[in-house]
Amino acid sequence: MKDCIFCKIVAGKIPANIISENPDFLAFHDINPKAPVHILIIPKNHIKDFNEVSPEIMAGLTKFAQEVAKIVGVNQSGYRLITNIGHNGGQEVNHLHFHLMGGAKLKWHHLADSDPKTAL
Ligand code: AMP
Repeated sequence: MKDCIFCKIVAGKIPANIISENPDFLAFHDINPKAPVHILIIPKNHIKDFNEVSPEIMAGLTKFAQEVAKIVGVNQSGYRLITNIGHNGGQEVNHLHFHLMGGAKLKWHHLADSDPKTAL
């Protein structure tokens, strides 16, 4: 999709530090890592967010994400796999992506206090 930064990475128009890819999915390092290991996993086709992804694509993405976790060596030590959806979810790039984060014991960041009024 024109003007989508992740579509430009898929097309090779802007550089990315690629971990793995197959015909359907791409994994690359987040440019602004929030954990020792912080990878983004995306479908190559433009899908806006989790609301719009099919179960079939998610099945392939699941297998691919499991392989990526092994490649970066966090499958045994543990990791977090999250996707932000829309405004309230904090989504900044409107091309479906999963953050695969690990390499250290992760905090639950601002949600740690578990008071819904402070989770803002
Ligand atoms: P989100 O807030 O869930 O939409 O996450 C978007 C993520 O994309 C952020 O963690 C950014 O650091 C990351 N990001 C933005 N541009 C690039 C880029 N050119 N290469 C790698 N990661 C990027």
